[in-house]
Amino acid sequence: MFAEVLTIGDELLTGNTVDSNSAFIAKKLTERGYWVRRKTTVGDDVGEIEGVIREILERKPEVLVISGGLGPTHDDVTMLAVAEALGRKLVLCEPCLERLREFYRELHERGMIDDPNLNEARKKMAYLPEGAEPLENTEGAAPGAYIEHSGVKIFVLPGMPREMKAMLENEVLPRIGERRFIQRKLLAEITDESKLAPILSEALRRFEVRIHSSPKGFGRYIGIILFGENEGEIERAKTFMESRGIRFEEGW
Ligand code: ATP
Ligand code: MG
Repeated sequence: MFAEVLTIGDELLTGNTVDSNSAFIAKKLTERGYWVRRKTTVGDDVGEIEGVIREILERKPEVLVISGGLGPTHDDVTMLAVAEALGRKLVLCEPCLERLREFYRELHERGMIDDPNLNEARKKMAYLPEGAEPLENTEGAAPGAYIEHSGVKIFVLPGMPREMKAMLENEVLPRIGERRFIQRKLLAEITDESKLAPILSEALRRFEVRIHSSPKGFGRYIGIILFGENEGEIERAKTFMESRGIRFEEGW
């Protein structure tokens, strides 16, 4: 089960905004049992976005989560680029248009905006790639999109972290199935990663697990994350490493 994440925005490339969205998305996908193999960031450019989506689709991940560039302004071109990359047209989503009308009417009633009407810029957000299912944005205006294309589940989410997080929880996670991989975090009481390395390599050869390791706790521990399809396999890998002299504490 492998996944990719694509974040879009010039501000991410200039460093003016730290790309916290890709970390959040990757964390959620990992918790769900996906192996996030790549994260990519490109600017607000149709050609760049289109090109990178084509490349990602060639790698055939099960899931691709895209975030950023769904708003009303000229630089928000993500839906157009997604449509082009998939060879689909952008088509008007009527329920999305209705929802936008409602959204701006409400903001106007609350005195937050001067004009409740749907101008061209606002209408633009109701266009999705043909065949896409709209994803509800409970925190803002622009709907997201869910598209199945050549076996890849593609999700297009807004860039505003609050909107992205809500849509990921409410609309994306329920569509990507139950968790299949589990992760277990351990602290190995050993300070030298090079001593641990051959033991980890052997565990990887013997068991159906993936292992991440990184130094923790001021040189006292190495933090280990064991990923596996079931508790049993993870437990066997742990027991094996213990038999090679590693002492573990749970969690970190
Ligand atoms: P909007 O309607 O606000 O334009 P949008 O979907 O077009 O929504 P963006 O224009 O990409 O979103 O970004 C809106 C805001 O969210 C910006 O302030 C941006 O810095 C922030 N943002 C966008 N992408 C990310 C990201 N990957 N990580 C953190 N913040 C982000
Ligand atoms: Mg924007």
